[in-house]
Amino acid sequence: MNPPKTGSLRSRPDSRSFVASNVNDVPISPAVFLDRDGTLMTDVEYCGDPARVAVFPGAADALARLRSRGYRLVMISNQSGIGRGYFSEDDFQRVQTEVFHQLGARGRLDGAYHCPERPEDATDRRKPGPGMIREAAAELQLDLARSWIVGDSRADVEAGRRAGLAGSVFVLTGKAPEERLQCEPDAVALDLAAAVDWILKKGLK
Ligand SMILES: [Mg+2]
Repeated sequence: MNPPKTGSLRSRPDSRSFVASNVNDVPISPAVFLDRDGTLMTDVEYCGDPARVAVFPGAADALARLRSRGYRLVMISNQSGIGRGYFSEDDFQRVQTEVFHQLGARGRLDGAYHCPERPEDATDRRKPGPGMIREAAAELQLDLARSWIVGDSRADVEAGRRAGLAGSVFVLTGKAPEERLQCEPDAVALDLAAAVDWILKKGLK
């Protein structure tokens, strides 16, 4: 398995050249943006330890179904635990490696972005800002108007709206399912598999 590039792709020379070399021959694709904690895996709050990673059963199959229908798959994750000093960037990368391992080849991602900023001094990269989505769109040649976001929080739904995505699906596998009432997702789904069902019916026409 080739793990996806993670973190601030922009700062990595290897990923720059990866994007640049494909810029003329990769068609603009729709994507599904995926929150990590509470969406792809159990939200254990400030996860800095790979031993605490538990990807949801069925997540990899759900991602494979999206891929087979032409969607690129991009994780976008707020990780203020880094900015708060609860765990290091290296700890985060070890956690990511375990997440990718558990997702396996069927659940492989095209990109993964995270924002280490604390809420109190965050830029628009931190969800609900649209910054990470826009970065991914530029680097992976994504068509945002045909793209969706799946997440378990109001911030995910709002980030999708601000980025001009086709829409959002709120999953109930997170810690605060009541947040669905504080935002306007296009759908509410029990879990990622149900969210994918909905996107595949609604999405590419
Ligand atoms: Mg979440």
